[in-house]
Order: sequence, then structure tokens, then C-alpha cells
Amino acid sequence: MLVVEDEKPIAEILKYHLERSGYVVNIAFNGEDALERVARDNPDLILLDIMLPKIDGLTVCRQIRAHSTVPILMLTAKHEETDKVQGLEFGADDYVTKPFSPREVVARVRALLRRTHAGNNGSNGNDNNGALQCGEVTIDLAVREVRKNNQPVPLTVREFELLKYLVLRRGQPFTREALLEDVWGYEYYGDIRTVDVTVRRLREKVEDDPSNPQYILTKRGVGYMFRQF
Ligand code: CA
Repeated sequence: MLVVEDEKPIAEILKYHLERSGYVVNIAFNGEDALERVARDNPDLILLDIMLPKIDGLTVCRQIRAHSTVPILMLTAKHEETDKVQGLEFGADDYVTKPFSPREVVARVRALLRRTHAGNNGSNGNDNNGALQCGEVTIDLAVREVRKNNQPVPLTVREFELLKYLVLRRGQPFTREALLEDVWGYEYYGDIRTVDVTVRRLREKVEDDPSNPQYILTKRGVGYMFRQF
């Protein structure tokens, strides 16, 4: 995995703790170097600081997302609320707030990788065999693959998790708060914009016309639901 952090002591601490947990870690100290390494090394996860020399972390995130769904964990400064939302908007999967404990970061990394690989070992239970067909969209939960008109739709970890949650309960509306709690979990209290941002990204990928959605519907006064097909 790749740690992108210009503050050397922080980068070294992260590397030390991640390596102790069994991960192979490279460090990039600026945004330009990060983009080069992502293209060259194809890391399985990226820890990305926002305040970086040369190219800032948000731009790096957006550029990576133009061609990759690799899990991205943002490292944000404490009071930069807008950075968090922007990071998620640009496609980060999760974030931790500085100052963080290395243990927390390792836990987040582990959780993200677990989600990414959840479908790849075929141990997904007996109710998910075969793909779900919803209109022109096919969702294969076992291999975490979404296709539209037989074209692959690349989704980030969070986009897939949210889609999966709604599809498995299609026809049933959920509040943003409920989605935040069930899909994102413990850390996201209060920040329901995260749900809106992810729904918007999903719609851009899945809908013919994102402003007139046919799959992920807005239920006025409630929240979101996946249409019953
Ligand atoms: Ca920094």
C-alpha cells in the first residue's frame, strides 16, 4: 500500500505500524510522486494526506479516481470539515482525523481491505449466488461486480456497499441517518452529507439521467431507496 504524507515523522510512524501488521508499505512525500507511484506500483490501498506539496491530496484523489477504484483512506486535519466532505466527494472511501492513533489507522485499513476482498473468496453465503438483475443493471454480489448493459461499472468500496445495502432491501426507503449508521458505521455520526455525495456518485455511474433517477430514488421526507423491479 502507499502512504502519501509530506510530514516525514507521521509517514514513518504509519509505515512502522502498518508493516508490523503485515502490510508492505511505500511512502510518497508529495502529490506528484504519489501519482507516479500509483501508476507504476498499482497499490492495493492508499493513505492520502490532504495538505501536500506540488499537488494537493484532493486533486490526487480525483485523478486516481478517474481510472481506479483502489480504496483511499484520507488523512485530514482536525477542523477541516470541508476537506472531509470534499475528500469523500472526490471518491475517498474513508478518512481519519489528525491527530490519529496508529492503531485506529491500522483498524481502518484492515476494515477497508476486508470490504474490498469480501466477495473475492466465494465465502459470501448461499443467498447471493447468481447476479441480481435490476432493469439494465446487473449486480453480482459474490464477485462485487456491477454491470450496466453488460458494461462494467467500476465502483469504490463505499459506493458498492451502499448499492448493495439498498439493492438487498429494494423497495424499502431508508433515512440518511440509517444509511450512515449501517453502511459507514461508527465514525460518521452527524455527517449525513456523506450519504448524499455517495448517492450522487452512484447515480452518475448507474443512471441514464442522474437528475431523473430510475434506480436509486429519493423518497421525499424519508431518504433513499432502490426501486423494486
Ligand atoms: Ca501534510
